[in-house]
Amino acid sequence: MDVLKQFSLSGKTVLITGASSGIGAHLARVASNAGARVVLAARRVERLQQLADDIRFEGGVALAVAMDVTDRASVETAFDAAEAQLGVVDVVLNNAGIGNGQRVLEVSEEDWRAMLSTNLDGVWRVAQCAAQRLAKAQRPGSIINIASILGLRVGTGYSHYSAAKAGVVQLSKSLALELARHRIRVNAIAPGYFKTEMNDAWFDSDKGQTYIRDIVPMHRLGNLKELEGPFLLLASDAGAFMTGAVLAVDGGHLVGSL
Ligand code: NDP
Repeated sequence: MDVLKQFSLSGKTVLITGASSGIGAHLARVASNAGARVVLAARRVERLQQLADDIRFEGGVALAVAMDVTDRASVETAFDAAEAQLGVVDVVLNNAGIGNGQRVLEVSEEDWRAMLSTNLDGVWRVAQCAAQRLAKAQRPGSIINIASILGLRVGTGYSHYSAAKAGVVQLSKSLALELARHRIRVNAIAPGYFKTEMNDAWFDSDKGQTYIRDIVPMHRLGNLKELEGPFLLLASDAGAFMTGAVLAVDGGHLVGSL
């Protein structure tokens, strides 16, 4: 048997939140290349349409759906549209997120709520919606939540982000525990630093460059390609016995010397 076959997503419908940019857009293409029908979800639908067109041009099957993860009705409507056109969603990449840095003394009630609402509540909402539909259809599935190394350690200016991402880590484990009997696996990926629209200005700055060079054991940012293997492992049958895991993909950042 070709060992790589078990990483195939052929025959699966994969929904990716935050597919309009960065990690989500990249892994949407990867899912399609691995054989999946892909559902691209985010608020900026024109960007999703462009990506869906590109994927279809390359021979894939893609559907763009508007989704605001902070809004239950929007999430349910997007899943309804996905199901109507491409069948029950088998795999979810729960990736939508925001990430502005702010010192703890300056975080307002609104800032805190916006962060938690998108980065934690949104992950819960999408995961629950997907799991309810899978359980009802009695189908196995895989949910992959994008956490962060800031969900496992802390950094200056990220109290609200860290709190939300730590919540994603514990939520992922709780979901894994409860959903195992429904044959739904739930795992998290904790990325280190990858340059995307969320942080490109910082990483282009002298301070950002110095930080990466001095603090990350590999002395560099991650390349989006380096998330492909972990994603395919968790999404596909290659990870069939994995649930409740948190995979750090961070160039050794978490094991940086104290
Ligand atoms: P980007 O800013 O490039 O992408 C963020 C995505 O989230 C966009 O597609 C955006 O789409 C979507 N999004 C934001 N809010 C909502 C919402 N309310 N509803 C639906 N979609 C939403 O950042 P990244 O690709 O870097 O981030 C992706 C994930 O990876 C995030 O969860 C982030 O926290 C995490 N992460 C990133 C790291 C990095 O170094 N880049 C490190 C660790 C974790 P739209 O605006 O169109 O709705």
